[in-house]
Amino acid sequence: VINSLIKAFTHLPGIGQKSATRFAYFILEHHKQKGLELSKALKDAIENVKNCEQCRTLTTHNICEICQNEKRDNSILCVVENPSSIASIEASGVYSGKYFVLGGYLSPIDGIGIEDIGLVDLENLVNTTNVTEIILATSASMEAEVTNHYIENMFQKADIKITKIARGIPLGGDLEYTDINTIAKSLTDRN
Ligand SMILES: [Zn+2]
Repeated sequence: VINSLIKAFTHLPGIGQKSATRFAYFILEHHKQKGLELSKALKDAIENVKNCEQCRTLTTHNICEICQNEKRDNSILCVVENPSSIASIEASGVYSGKYFVLGGYLSPIDGIGIEDIGLVDLENLVNTTNVTEIILATSASMEAEVTNHYIENMFQKADIKITKIARGIPLGGDLEYTDINTIAKSLTDRN
């Protein structure tokens, strides 16, 4: 039983055998109540959090609060890889448009194709709303570039401006690990 708990912790990103062992004993030796709270919080989140039907971010509603917010600019759509990128951009405070979460990048080598990430949903969303600018706020990986290229082609004929965040963000850097000032600047300096 202890070993399965340790193994379960090793499934988290950045957690190796050593940290996982430390977590397991931390809970079992002195913090059983905290452990139960953690397991309840996990269960509640997993059972109640779903993807927004419009932007695919994580939410407890069918449509998330940002998509529902009528004060936000419907004409600008910021495309990000994952929900945590949204949190980073929101923290920068310079963006008031809407978002779309891809949920991954195209990667033929890994068998990740158009239907595996949100490209069809993105096309439907853009075609049914009055988006005039799409900001590609993706990371700088090869897969991200391939995906951006696909999106650019997808809307080539439509009258939509496609911009990319300025690359103050280091190559391969993920948005959620980039500081807020850098994100703010890369958004205002987009081209
Ligand atoms: Zn949403």
